[in-house]
Amino acid sequence: MKNRVFRGIPASSGIVMGKAYVLSREIFVPSLARKTTEEELATFYSAIKSTQRDLEGIIQRLKEQKSHEGLKLIEVQLLLLKDPFFVETVENYIREGEGASYAIHKFIETLKTEFETIGDPYIKDRFLDIKDVARRVMRKIEGETGELSYQEPHVLFAHDLTPSDTAQLDKEYVLGFVTETGGKMSHTAIIARALGIPAVVGVGGILKEVKNGEQVIIDGFRGVVVVAPDEDTKRTYEKRIREYREYEKKLEKAKELPATTIDGKEIDLTANIEIPLELKPAVENGARGIGLYRTEFIFLTDDGLPDEETQFRYYREAAEMFRDLPVIFRTLDSGGDKILGWQYLKEDNPFLGWRGIRLTLDRKEIFLSQVRAILKASSYGNVKIMLPMVSSLEEVERARELLEEAINGLEKEGRHIKKPVEMGIMVEIPSAAILSEHFAKHVDFFSIGTNDLTQYTLAVDRTNERISYLFDHVNPAVVRLMRQTIDAAHENGIWAGVCGEIASDPVAIPLLIGLNVDELSLTPALIPQIKGIIRGISYQECVKIAQEVLKMDSARKVRKFLSQELLSRFPHLENLLVEVDND
Ligand code: PEP
Ligand code: MG
Repeated sequence: MKNRVFRGIPASSGIVMGKAYVLSREIFVPSLARKTTEEELATFYSAIKSTQRDLEGIIQRLKEQKSHEGLKLIEVQLLLLKDPFFVETVENYIREGEGASYAIHKFIETLKTEFETIGDPYIKDRFLDIKDVARRVMRKIEGETGELSYQEPHVLFAHDLTPSDTAQLDKEYVLGFVTETGGKMSHTAIIARALGIPAVVGVGGILKEVKNGEQVIIDGFRGVVVVAPDEDTKRTYEKRIREYREYEKKLEKAKELPATTIDGKEIDLTANIEIPLELKPAVENGARGIGLYRTEFIFLTDDGLPDEETQFRYYREAAEMFRDLPVIFRTLDSGGDKILGWQYLKEDNPFLGWRGIRLTLDRKEIFLSQVRAILKASSYGNVKIMLPMVSSLEEVERARELLEEAINGLEKEGRHIKKPVEMGIMVEIPSAAILSEHFAKHVDFFSIGTNDLTQYTLAVDRTNERISYLFDHVNPAVVRLMRQTIDAAHENGIWAGVCGEIASDPVAIPLLIGLNVDELSLTPALIPQIKGIIRGISYQECVKIAQEVLKMDSARKVRKFLSQELLSRFPHLENLLVEVDND
């Protein structure tokens, strides 16, 4: 049948058309055949050795490509390959009478059952790493190479792709990918965005619907997959791809230009960084600094906390890259949906629990070592510190005391610290927004985190698909809190930025400008598009748009109004970027 359309989650933007390459690893059935225990053990050990050689080869390739993040993931796998828990469990299954391949399958299945009961996406990602490495060994035994095909460019379809699979994807051959599982928050999606590979994830059952070699289209803006498109659909998408390329070319020209409205109001456009792999794209896309450097990835370790030196190396790399432009390091925001392995603690309401600044002030050695590492990096650029999840003034005061302690300690050690070191807060909890006039007297800047501000204002779990229709960062309640925060900042002589996903949402840009925001921090790849909107509208028009929005009573009405306002000025965006509510 022609033109079969499937919907999933848009994980990485872009539209591509090509031949499908279906990776059927998940439905791979391990053989039950069995030789003697000694022979099966020998097979297992030799498969481990051979996998080790493969991984070392990949490490070599990634080193040549200077892909630090991919490298880290594969190095973790190399360690897992020797992990006694993996090796001994499989040995025991073999001794109990299983064949080597089936013993590994059994190891994965047992692990899966245990991990399924854990809702935390970060812990699930650790499971994916273990599963990935175990599968590699299993495929060796079954004589499959299991590697991705690199003969001709294709659109990859897989049940799931592990972060390490994704980090290895070669952009020349993989035009885009579709997976049956996964969410926008997964590492796989993050890496796809960092590499600029269009992707749609969470398309349940798609592997049964698409055959190798079939023509497919994937639309990473809207999360749409079309299998065997008919001529009409092909033409429509070809036109959209062409238009998008032209649009990108135009944006490319504006790369060196400032993000200034028609009537001269300049907005600082900076980048959100989740992994170091995004630093280079941030520079290439014209970011005027880093508005939010999420530091959680450094703490994604199995073996305790990262030391000060390891942290310092990451912070220095970013500071050096941006020199005089600001690089804002957010202190660890573990907890909620980002619980790290070493922190695991069962809480009934983790989003309302031991998260962000609450955790790091409680475990002050974590805060101190992180702040010391950031301060050390201060001599290499223009660094600032930002505190996440602040809900009370006492937290700011305590953090300031610890910052002073860290500065004094380093100066006693003979280090030169570039002072003053600015410290700001994320405004992402309603209490901080409501009391922003007081907070503004104690900090150097505000950055509004609309992901959490929306979640906590509307009482809508940001990760729960079932109620996602209620989650909208342009909800009037959130807009009012943003206005209050920005006004409080300006009345007290400090600046206010926005670093939540709203800063990447084209329809919201005129509203944010009209609310008088000073800085927008967003995914590097989207900076040119957002700049295009800023340069095509006047501040005066934006103020009027914001005034209208502030009179509205529902998110639905606000979104509809903002979509109309945007499209009346930028009609070419209709098919490219914006999901318009037509009712
Ligand atoms: C936010 O909450 O808007 C934010 C930027 O922080 P994070 O998404 O990391 O919680
Ligand atoms: Mg947040």
